[in-house]
Amino acid sequence: MATVHDHVRTAEHHSQAGEPWHARPAAEVLEALESGPSGLPEAATAERRARWGENRLPEPPRAGALLRLARQFHNVLIYVLIASGIITLLMGHLVDSGVILGVVVINAAIGFVQEGKAESALDGLRRMLSPAATVLRDGRRRSIAAEALVPGDVVILEPGDRVPADLRLLLARGLEVQEAVLTGESVPVPKAATPVPADAVLAERGSMAFSGTLVTRGHARGVVVATGGATEIGRIGHLIASAPRMTTPLLRRLASFGRTLTVAILVLAGLTFAFGTLVRDFAADAMFLAAVGLAVAAIPEGLPAIMTIGLAVGVQRMARRRAIIRRLPAVETLGSVTVICSDKTGTLTRNEMMVEGIATASALYEVSGAGYAPDGTITRGGAAPAEAERAGLADLARAGALCCDAALREGADGWSVEGDPMEGAILALAARLGVDMAQAQAAMPRLDVIPFDAEHRFMATLHRRPDGLGQVLVKGAPERLLELCDRQRDGLAELPLDLAWWHARQAAMAGTGQRLLAVAVRRLPPDRRQLAMEDLEEGLTLLGLLGLSDPPREEAMAAVQRCQDAGIRVKMITGDHPATALAIAGRLGLATGPGALTGRDLDLLDEAALARRAGEVDVFARTSPEHKLRLVHALQRAGQIVAMTGDGVNDAPALKSADVGIAMGRKGTEAAKEAAEMVLADDDFASIAAAVEEGRTVYNNLRKAIVFILPTNGGEALTIIGAILAGLPLPITAVQILWINMVTTVTLALALAFEPAERGIMRQRPRRPDAPLLSRFLGWRVVFVSLIMVAAVFGVFFGYERAGADMAVVRTASVNTLVLLEAVYLLNCRHLVQPVLTREGLLGNPLALGAIATVLLLQLLFTYAPPMQLMFGTAPLAAADWLVILLAALPLLFLVEIEKRVLRGRTAAAPAKA
Ligand code: ATP
Repeated sequence: MATVHDHVRTAEHHSQAGEPWHARPAAEVLEALESGPSGLPEAATAERRARWGENRLPEPPRAGALLRLARQFHNVLIYVLIASGIITLLMGHLVDSGVILGVVVINAAIGFVQEGKAESALDGLRRMLSPAATVLRDGRRRSIAAEALVPGDVVILEPGDRVPADLRLLLARGLEVQEAVLTGESVPVPKAATPVPADAVLAERGSMAFSGTLVTRGHARGVVVATGGATEIGRIGHLIASAPRMTTPLLRRLASFGRTLTVAILVLAGLTFAFGTLVRDFAADAMFLAAVGLAVAAIPEGLPAIMTIGLAVGVQRMARRRAIIRRLPAVETLGSVTVICSDKTGTLTRNEMMVEGIATASALYEVSGAGYAPDGTITRGGAAPAEAERAGLADLARAGALCCDAALREGADGWSVEGDPMEGAILALAARLGVDMAQAQAAMPRLDVIPFDAEHRFMATLHRRPDGLGQVLVKGAPERLLELCDRQRDGLAELPLDLAWWHARQAAMAGTGQRLLAVAVRRLPPDRRQLAMEDLEEGLTLLGLLGLSDPPREEAMAAVQRCQDAGIRVKMITGDHPATALAIAGRLGLATGPGALTGRDLDLLDEAALARRAGEVDVFARTSPEHKLRLVHALQRAGQIVAMTGDGVNDAPALKSADVGIAMGRKGTEAAKEAAEMVLADDDFASIAAAVEEGRTVYNNLRKAIVFILPTNGGEALTIIGAILAGLPLPITAVQILWINMVTTVTLALALAFEPAERGIMRQRPRRPDAPLLSRFLGWRVVFVSLIMVAAVFGVFFGYERAGADMAVVRTASVNTLVLLEAVYLLNCRHLVQPVLTREGLLGNPLALGAIATVLLLQLLFTYAPPMQLMFGTAPLAAADWLVILLAALPLLFLVEIEKRVLRGRTAAAPAKA
C-alpha cells in the first residue's frame, strides 16, 4: 500500500516537473496533491514544508563584502586624500603620509559598517511587512504568513491580494488578475476554473493564478501547485526586491552640494598653493602640506555618514511608533505634510462594532451587551418586546448573519471576530436573539454570493430554503437597499415600502454616529443556483435597519488635536453615511461647520470648484476610491502637501498620487501596501501623527548636525587661510585637521542624530518642501560661529607663539581649543533657537554628554600618548594650559545663546514670520 510519503513524493515530482496543471480538471489536481476542497489538515503541513521548504523567492545576492568596501573609496574626497598621501610619501614625510592613508582606511571602514547597519535596518522593516495569505486548513479560514504555504494548500484570493504561490483555480467569481510581472501585460486578464489546452502559453493559462501577480477584481479559491523557487516567477529568476538605497531628495541635494563644494575647495587650495609658493616664497613641500590641510579642513568629511545615520535612526524610531517606512523620501515629506486625509473606520474609529439599535417597519429597539459576546438584552422603549416581536427580530438577525463571511470565536480573552467586525456585530446580535447559526446554515445552505465592494455597497447571498425555493439575502447601505426594495415586512405582513418612515429612522440613527446597515430578502424559483445583479433589481423586501456603534479611538482624538496644533488639517474620507460621518467627525474635533460633501456632490463639481470646496470641507461621505484620487489632485492643486490613507486595491492610485500614501498594515491589501510610502502596523491614526512628529524631528536633527559640523570646517579653513596670508606657520597641521574632522566632529555630531523631538515641534507650522536646508538664519549661524571659532583658535595660537612656546605645544593647544569649542557648541546645537542654558538643555541628552566625555578622553590620548604624539606631532600640556583653553572655548556657549535670544526677540516682534 502506498504511504502518505509516496503520495507526497509523487506530488513533489509533479509540481517540480512542470506538470500541466492548467489542463487538468480542478478535482483531479486536488486529488493529485493529496488535498481537498476544505484544504489540508494543519497536521500535514509541517512535513510538506520540510520537503518543499519555505515559500520564498531566493534573496538577491548581496554585493560582495570586498566590492562594498571598494565602493567606499569611490568619492572625490578619498581621491584627494589618497593623492595627498602618495605625494607626501614621495616627499619623504612618512608619518604624515601614514596618517593620511590611515584616515582613508578608517573612513572606508566607517562607511562600510554604517552602510551595513543602515541596510539591515531597512531589511528589518521589510520583514515587518512580509505578506500574508488566507488559506483553508482543516476547513477553517486562516490568515498565515505567505512563506508558510505548502503545495496542496487551498488559498482564498480577494481583490488587492498578491497571489502568494502558483495556484490552480478551484472556483473563481469575476476574477481578474494583473500579470505584468510575468507577462509584461498590464491589462488585467480574466480567470476561471475551467481547464485550458495543455499547450497554452503562460499568458493563456486562464485556470491558473501565478505567484507575484495581483488580483484586481473578483474572488477565487485555488490550490497551491508550486511554491518558492518552483513557481513560474521563481523560475524566471525573479528575486525579492532588494532593500532600497539609503537616500532621499535631501541627501541627494546634499551630495551634489558636497561635490560642488569639494571642487571649489580644491580650486581654492590650488590657488593658495600658488600664492604661497609664488608670492610668499614658501617651500613647495611645506606649501603642499598646507594646501592639503586647507582642502581637508574645508571639506566636511563626516557629514554624509551623519546624515545616513540620522535618517536610519528616524526610520527606526518611526517603526517603534508603529509607522513603517517603505520609501525613504517619505521620512522627509512627512515633515512638510499640510493635510492628512484619513479613512474613518478602523483608523479614526476603533472598528469594534456592536449593533446598538434596530429599526423595523413599526418599532425601534435598543440592544445592549459587551463586544461580540452572545449575551445581551433587547428592549423596546425600556421594556422587553413581546414574543412575536422577538421572533421577527430573530428573522432579521438570521437573514443578516447568513449573509456574512465573518466568524466569532471564543478565546482566552473573550469573544473575537475573524473577518469584518461589522459582520461580527451582526453575528453577535443573532446570538443575543437566540439564533443557532450552525443550524441556520445547515437549513439554508449558501449557493452563491455577490461579495461586498465599496463601489455598490452591499453584499448578497443565495440560499436553498428547506422548501426548495431559492432565498436571496441582501445587506448593505440603506440608501442602496431603499432604491432596490419595493416592499417591507411588518410582523407577518408584507406592505408597500414606506420611504418617509425609513428616511426618518435613517437620519435619527446616523445622527447619533451609528453606522447603518439595511437587510432585505427575496424568494427565487427553486432551480436557481447562481445569483445575478438583475435578481436584486426587483422584488426585494426590506426587513429592517441595524445601527452599529463604532466609537472614535481615544488616541485618535488626541492625535487630531496634535495635528491641528501642528498646522495640519485632518479630513475624513469615508464610505459611510454623511450623518454618521459628521457625528463621528464632531466627536473627533474636525470642522463640521461646512457640512459634509458626498461622493455624489463631488461628481457635480468641476476641478476648480472642487479645489476650493475640498479645502473648506473636512468630511467626505459615501465616497468611492476614485473620489479619493480626485481629492488628492484637488488639494495638491491648491498647494497642499497631502497624506492619504487607504486599504483597498482601488485606493492604490490615490495612494500613489498623494505626497505620502499611507496603507493600513492590518486590514490593508497588498496592492495598497505596495503603492504606499508608509504602512501603519496598527491601522491607527495616532501613528500618523507620531510619524509626522518623527519626520519633523529627523529633518531638524539633520539641520542641527549640519549647523554643528560646518562651522568647524569654516573655522579650520579660515585659520589656515589666515595663517598663509599672514605668512605664519600653520596653527593646525593637515593630519591634526583630519583627526578633528574624522574623529572628534563625527563622535560629537552623532549625538545630534539621536536628539529627541523638541518640545514645541508639533506646535510649528509644516515646513515648506522647497525651503532650503540652510535657511538664511542658519547660514548666518554658520558664519557667526566660524568667526568665533577662528578668533578663539588664533587667540590661543598667537598667545602661545608670542610666549615663545615650542611649535608642537602651540599646535596642541590650538587643536584642543578647537575641539573644546566643538564640545560646547554641541550643547548650543541641541536646540536651534530655544535656549540650552537650562537643566534640560545641558543634561537632556545623555548621548551628548557621553560624546563630550569620549572626545575629552580622546583628546587626553591625543595630547599625552606617545604614539599619538608621534603621529600627530603633539606635545604634553600643563594643567594651566587647560585652563587657558577652557577660557578660550567657553565664551562660544554664551555668545550663541545671546544670539539666539536676540533672534527670538526679533521673531516675537514679527509673529507673522515665526
Ligand atoms: P472607510 O474605511 O473609508 O471609513 P467605511 O467602512 O466607512 O470606509 P465602506 O466599508 O465602504 O465604508 O462601507 C460603506 C457602507 O457599506 C457601510 O456604511 C455599510 O452600510 C455598507 N457595508 C459595509 N460593509 C459591509 C458588508 N460587509 N456587507 C454589506 N454592507 C456593508
